[in-house]
Amino acid sequence: MFDEEDLIPISALQHVLFCERQYALIHLEQLWEENRFTAEGNVLHERVDIEHHETRKEYKVEYSLAIRSLQYGIIGKADVVEFEKDDAGGIVSVVLVEFKRGKNKEEDHDRVQLCAQALCLEEMFDCAIAEGQFYYLGEHRRRSVDLSQELREKTTGLIDRIRKIAASGVTPEAVYEKRKCDRCSLFDICMPKVVDNGGKDVARYVQNQIRRNIHDEDATRKEEGECEDY
Ligand code: SF4
Repeated sequence: MFDEEDLIPISALQHVLFCERQYALIHLEQLWEENRFTAEGNVLHERVDIEHHETRKEYKVEYSLAIRSLQYGIIGKADVVEFEKDDAGGIVSVVLVEFKRGKNKEEDHDRVQLCAQALCLEEMFDCAIAEGQFYYLGEHRRRSVDLSQELREKTTGLIDRIRKIAASGVTPEAVYEKRKCDRCSLFDICMPKVVDNGGKDVARYVQNQIRRNIHDEDATRKEEGECEDY
């Protein structure tokens, strides 16, 4: 069992699956930059992140429910959790629903997050959850996800990997991959094209940055009437 102070945020799972360097920059070095994808995701969750619940006799819905698992050492929030109860108030079923922008994705980034949330709920409410659901805004419908043994092992494997990287305290080197780097929120901080070739382009990059800064300063001074072209 893990202590409260050792819990890993569930959001770290999708970061480490996307890119281990991105995970380390965000969670170890505390660097973060908003891009269109993260901004849209945040707006979506702000809409859901108003903690409240609805209760009927045999049905209860929790919104933005704080969750954690001391067994796996993870913590986070679940967008929507629907509880079905029997006459005595015992839990009959738990339905976990996560809101996402866009459409269903090939990659498992969202699915491992959903699985981690289910692991928390199973521990908290001593129940078994066979599947979770996504509500993709781009599709306007719920989509079920089988919380298979394979997905559970992938999820717990990522948790172990996060603990190993965190224990090492070392941020992995950048490896530029167009498919992911070009949509990464940390592209400007990470500079994968510069770092990926052993820093050979660093001098050229710094020179270009200096030239660009000088150009920007000149442009500002011109606008302010301090500098003229000859
Ligand atoms: S820019 Fe690429 S290498 Fe750098 S953190 Fe993002 S995905 Fe990883």
